[in-house]
Amino acid sequence: MASTGAAPSLKRKDSFSAASREGDQLIITPLGAGNEVGRSCVYMSYKNKTILFDCGIHPAYSGMAALPYFDEIDPSTIDVLLVTHFHLDHAASLPYFLEKTTFKGKVFMTHATKAIYRLLLSDYVKVSKVSVEDMLYDEGDIVRSMDKIEVIDFHQTVEVNGIRFWCYTAGHVLGAAMFMVDIAGLRVLYTGDYSREEDRHLRAAETPQFSPDICIIESTYGVQLHQPRTVREKRFTDVVHSTVASGGRVLIPAFALGRAQELLLILDEYWSAHPELHNIPIYYASPLAKRCMAVYQTYINAMNERIRSQFEGSNPFDFKHISPLKSIENFEDVGPSVVMASPSGLQSGLSRQLFDIWCQDKKNACIIPGYVVEGTLAKTIINEPKDVTLMNGLTVPLNMQVHYISFSAHADFAQTSAFLKELMPPNIILVHGEANEMGRLKQKLITQFSNQNVKIMSPKNCQTVEMYFNSEKTAKAIGRLAEKTPEVGEIVSGLLVKKGFTYQIMAPEDLPVFSQLSTGNITQRISIPYSGAFSVIKHRLLQIYESVEPPDDAEDQVPTLIVHKRVTVKQEASTYVTLLWSSDPMSDMVSDSVVAVIMNINRDPSKAIASEARMKEETERTAEKVVSALLVSLFGNVKAGEEGKMVVTVDGNVAHVDSKSGDVECENEGLKERVRTALRRIQSAIKPIPL
Ligand code: ZN
Ligand code: ZN
Repeated sequence: MASTGAAPSLKRKDSFSAASREGDQLIITPLGAGNEVGRSCVYMSYKNKTILFDCGIHPAYSGMAALPYFDEIDPSTIDVLLVTHFHLDHAASLPYFLEKTTFKGKVFMTHATKAIYRLLLSDYVKVSKVSVEDMLYDEGDIVRSMDKIEVIDFHQTVEVNGIRFWCYTAGHVLGAAMFMVDIAGLRVLYTGDYSREEDRHLRAAETPQFSPDICIIESTYGVQLHQPRTVREKRFTDVVHSTVASGGRVLIPAFALGRAQELLLILDEYWSAHPELHNIPIYYASPLAKRCMAVYQTYINAMNERIRSQFEGSNPFDFKHISPLKSIENFEDVGPSVVMASPSGLQSGLSRQLFDIWCQDKKNACIIPGYVVEGTLAKTIINEPKDVTLMNGLTVPLNMQVHYISFSAHADFAQTSAFLKELMPPNIILVHGEANEMGRLKQKLITQFSNQNVKIMSPKNCQTVEMYFNSEKTAKAIGRLAEKTPEVGEIVSGLLVKKGFTYQIMAPEDLPVFSQLSTGNITQRISIPYSGAFSVIKHRLLQIYESVEPPDDAEDQVPTLIVHKRVTVKQEASTYVTLLWSSDPMSDMVSDSVVAVIMNINRDPSKAIASEARMKEETERTAEKVVSALLVSLFGNVKAGEEGKMVVTVDGNVAHVDSKSGDVECENEGLKERVRTALRRIQSAIKPIPL
């Protein structure tokens, strides 16, 4: 956490921690929607990249209490904020987060979500103004937030700071998306609210074509199963028909946008098929009614086949039997009617005003058409209490019929289970579900996936899930290197190019083709003081190197040798020799060793002409010094150890090297392999040490 700069408070909380701590740490923390429905907001951090999924409010609370736990994080560290759909519990704290915090990252949502977000939040601000003193933001904040929101198309891949993401259709409501995020090859799917059932106007949620490492999934309906759509529709139209036929009023508290449009399609179609109902008005009561309809007419293309083919005749959202109703003042309540009004929870506004007027008459009916949040009046009346408290504080008997017929387009258990079976993510994190419901779902999923080694977690708000991933680095061979498939064990060499979190390996000649880069060669040249005979240098070099040759075109008079076909040694003046080579790891090592040889002669020129026995001994020592010098140039910290071994220390790891046998002892496998490779290279550059 410290590296991302996010508030350390996340660390202090209880956390689910994977047994293995090897690899890079991934952190996922619900700031809202953890064991609850409302204020969806999930924080995620991996490899110093930070993402927030959704930015909602809790509909049962008001003011600051409705916000996700933003205090737990440092908003300025968030790279990307992804909003799945326009519902208030997913998007309504966005103006606050964008305008009142230090957030400076990027925000993305689909086109339809952005259009409807603007409409809905303006309405939310107007409605809340009546009941709430401490407004979180105003109309101006919403307008300003619009400039900061970028749009994303379904299946379009966007990359921000090395974070790649794209989205799939989620069903649920118009424009709803599930986001797949890819950081350095680690994939996380966040479903948001989704439904795999096609209805009158929406497509069903897509199944991503590949499995994520982690799936953060809604659990609203837990282990419940939905009735088939036709059964639900029949129950709905039956209640509406029988209520108005016996002189009653039907109240349908619904969120202004989303499921409301589906229900209006059902009602309009039903009325068309039943001429006897034509004298009974249906109202769509929302200050947004007209503008909502315009938005829905605009985004027909984002809907399913069914509605698009209907559209070829006439606009299906241009209802024949439904009239918009702006406010209760415009409503003549003179006989049977059907009114769909917002908000869905009956907390305040039009739906609540009508409820207060109609709730004592048993001829009337209230149909709750979808999921209702804990703590709202709609939730209370589902259990059919004897009395209810009106907005004016009076307690009256609840005589009106209450029917709960869910049309909410959330996955039920059958859908959740099928979706997860198809994806088989090794890690599942449940969010967006009431604690008991979520608990039952978790148990059932654990049983279902008991043989598959799938981890299922259900963190509470602010409880962090920690996981560790070994991000295996793979490089993709491209260009001429990719023309031939290498045999197992064959070494492929080329230039390694890092782009974000991906690696490519290519031939140097291909570099300008596949990148903006070009190659360059560095020619090295050093001069070393030396005033002895050039033949002494040659003699010493021949003891170490197989190949010490004069150049092919030895025309000039300067004594010259080429060592190991890489390093040119010239005696350009009587006081110094010059080394020339084209820089690469091998040639650098050879030149280092030549320098070591010459310096050694300088130190004790008499030894250059010694007995055979001393020569051998001396050569051996020189070779050892050369190996040591080469190891120093590669690893830095190299010291002489016991029994003639060399001790290489890198980042606290120690390797004992026997340069004669080539044996390397080291507890750290990585370092051991590096030292071995270096020794192999060194040995290919110098002769086997003569004994
Ligand atoms: Zn939703
Ligand atoms: Zn939701």
